[in-house]
Amino acid sequence: MSLDRELKVQKIRDGIVIDHLRAGTALKILEMLGITGKEGFIITVAMNVPSQKLGSKDIIKIEGRYLSPSEVSKIALIAPKATLNVIKDYKVERKERLKLPDEIVGIIRCSNPTCITNHEPQVQSKFVVVSREPLKIKCLYCETVMDQDEIARRLS
Ligand SMILES: [Zn+2]
Repeated sequence: MSLDRELKVQKIRDGIVIDHLRAGTALKILEMLGITGKEGFIITVAMNVPSQKLGSKDIIKIEGRYLSPSEVSKIALIAPKATLNVIKDYKVERKERLKLPDEIVGIIRCSNPTCITNHEPQVQSKFVVVSREPLKIKCLYCETVMDQDEIARRLS
C-alpha cells in the first residue's frame, strides 16, 4: 500500500473544506476561527501540500462546522486564493472562490497607532482594497496602506 493511500483522509459528511490556502496559513486561520481542537469537530489540516496553482498550499477540513460571512472575509484577507467547499451528505453542495469585498469594515485593526479607529471605540475600521495581487488595503481614515503580512498580524 502506498504511503499516499495510507494517509488518505476519510471523506467528511457535513462540513467545510478550505482549500488553496497560502502555505503556512492554516494554523493562523484555525486560531482566527477560534478552533482549538477541544470543540470536538473532526479537523484535518494538511500543510505544504504540493499545488500546481500555488507551488505549495495548506488545506483545512472541518466536520460539522460552517463559516459566517465575516469569517469568510477574514480568511480571504489571509489567503486571497482560497476556495471554500461546503459539504452536505458527502457531496460538494457549493464550491466558491473566496472573494474579498472591495470594502472591509470592522474586522481588522489599522496598523497606524494614531488612527482614529484605534482610539474611538464607536468608529469602525474601514479599508478599501487598493491591490489584489499582491494584496494591499488602505485605511479610509488615515490612508495607511497594509500589505499581506501586516494584515495577518492585525486580524482580530
Ligand atoms: Zn487608519
